[in-house]
Amino acid sequence: MKNKCKMKRIVVKVALAMLAVSLCVICASCRLLSSDTEYVSRSYLMMDTVIEIKLQCDREVAAPVFDRCGEIMTDIEQALSRTLPESTVSQFNAAGKVTPDAETAAVLRMALEISDKTDGAFDPTVEGVVSLWDTCAAENRLPTEAEMRERLAHVGAEKLILSEDVLTRADPDTTIDLGAIGKGYAIDRVVAYLESTDIPGGVVSFGGNIAVFGAKQSGEPYRIGLRDPQNTTGVVGYLQMPSGVISVSGDYERYVSIGGERYHHILDPATGYPTTNGLHSVAVICENGALADALSTALFVMGKERAMAFYRAEIYDFEAIFVTDDAVLLTDGLASSDRFELASDRYALIP
Ligand code: AMP
Ligand code: MG
Repeated sequence: MKNKCKMKRIVVKVALAMLAVSLCVICASCRLLSSDTEYVSRSYLMMDTVIEIKLQCDREVAAPVFDRCGEIMTDIEQALSRTLPESTVSQFNAAGKVTPDAETAAVLRMALEISDKTDGAFDPTVEGVVSLWDTCAAENRLPTEAEMRERLAHVGAEKLILSEDVLTRADPDTTIDLGAIGKGYAIDRVVAYLESTDIPGGVVSFGGNIAVFGAKQSGEPYRIGLRDPQNTTGVVGYLQMPSGVISVSGDYERYVSIGGERYHHILDPATGYPTTNGLHSVAVICENGALADALSTALFVMGKERAMAFYRAEIYDFEAIFVTDDAVLLTDGLASSDRFELASDRYALIP
């Protein structure tokens, strides 16, 4: 009994420590600015992230809704987690064959489509390389060329075969990681549920992803502060968000230190190395969270010229903000609106 209590205390302490770390991740990406006080909120620790849901309603109305949101997110984590051993993703990675539920199959289908449309800049099969970096970080060393070559040989979304209801692989060593799309997908599911309730509006904040739904009581659009990658206590600027999702991928969000150098978590599937193309962060704004999440990763990998050409090809309906060392670039739809307001003299605004 005594041991049980001690164990519980340790678990709570670890959870609080994780919460503190994850909060930094949230703040490092974007944050909601709101003077409204009529929100009730609940925080969750899931998917390696602190999630916060804020609803415009009474506490009693919100309580069962918060519970249901927790169940929805738990189900998604059980399916998409790369680390939970029983998840659909882990089952596939271990056995090379899995029968996903209908929702997970839809995420997989979307991941494959986005991988194809972005020419592999977003690639769910980069998992082997992600794992290699995890191993090397634990051993405080860089991957060898031979190790990287071996892992890269199994990367490529064309190696996955998704039939009506079964996911298999053409290469027995190809594994998957849905970490670059899963949080955005979870946001979509939570928002869809919240919209089916009578709650008039709110905000769901999920790591680098924020969704707003319904109307604010003041009638004004939400304002999101975009974190400054070079000064994570400051903001680059503010974006008006009347609806939809903003998803941010940045080189400062998650990283490992090897030999005193920082290596961030977004990998170029062509080289296996963290991208170094001058971008420090990319924010994608659109109506679909899964798309926003996957595209923020993809555009980050593409670099600003390729990403801007991809935007202008009108394959998907979205807007984006690119942050380099000294400039903030907006896609055409944002540049021609007054939704973004620069707030730092470190950057020049290039429409
Ligand atoms: P995000 O923070 O949404 O940009 O997602 C980054 C996470 O997705 C990483 O922590 C990896 O697990 C995984 N990942 C890294 N690079 C890629 C990539 N190029 N395509 C797909 N997933 C990636
Ligand atoms: Mg992403």
